[in-house]
Amino acid sequence: MAGKRVAVYPGSFDPITYGHVDIVDRSLALVDRLIVAVASNPSKKGIFSVPERIDMIRTALQDRKGVEIASFEGLLVHFCRERKADVIIRGLRALSDFEFEFQMAMMNKRMYPRGETVFMMTGSQYFYLSSSVIKEVVQFGGTVEGLVPPVVLERLEERFGRARFGVGTPPSPASPRPAPAARRRR
Ligand code: ADP
Repeated sequence: MAGKRVAVYPGSFDPITYGHVDIVDRSLALVDRLIVAVASNPSKKGIFSVPERIDMIRTALQDRKGVEIASFEGLLVHFCRERKADVIIRGLRALSDFEFEFQMAMMNKRMYPRGETVFMMTGSQYFYLSSSVIKEVVQFGGTVEGLVPPVVLERLEERFGRARFGVGTPPSPASPRPAPAARRRR
C-alpha cells in the first residue's frame, strides 16, 4: 500500500460511548491512522463542551495506537483535505441512520471526490446505543454502567448525580415517572 491510510471519524461524541469505541477499534484494523474529530457546532450545544468531550475521548482511547483526537469547525471535507485523509468513517445502527448518512456521504463525495465514506456496522450489543439515549437515561436517574467508558460514567455522575436505578431495578411506584423526552433532530 502506497503511503499511510488516514481516516477521519467525525461526530458529536457528546459523550463518547462504547458504541463509538467499537467503531474506533474496527476502523483501526483497516487504516494506519484514525483521527477522531469532534464537530464543534456553535448552534448545536451539547451537554459537554468540546474540550470536555476531547478529554473524555483521550482518556477512553489512551491505550489505542494510531489514534489522534481533534476538533473541527465548518465542513468536514475541508478538515479531511487539510489532514490529507481520504477515508471518512461513519457508524451505522438502525435503518433510520441510513437516509441522513447516505445524503451526507453523497454530498461529501461531490465536494471531495478523493474521499470515500466507509460505513461500519456496530456490534449487536451496541446497536441501540447513542449519546442521546445515554443522556436521557442518566438525567432521569438510570444507570449506564457498561455502556460508556469509566471516565464518562464519572463525568456524568458529577453532572447529574449518582444513578438511582440500577440494571434490572425498576423505579418504585412512588417515584415520579419521567416525562417522555423530545426526540433529537440532527
Ligand atoms: P453525529 O451527531 O455526527 O451523529 P454522534 O457522536 O452521535 O455524532 O455519532 C458519530 C458517529 O458514530 C455516527 O456515524 C454514528 O452513527 C456513530 N455511532 C454512534 N453510536 C454508535 C453505535 N452505538 N454504534 C455504531 N455507530 C455509532
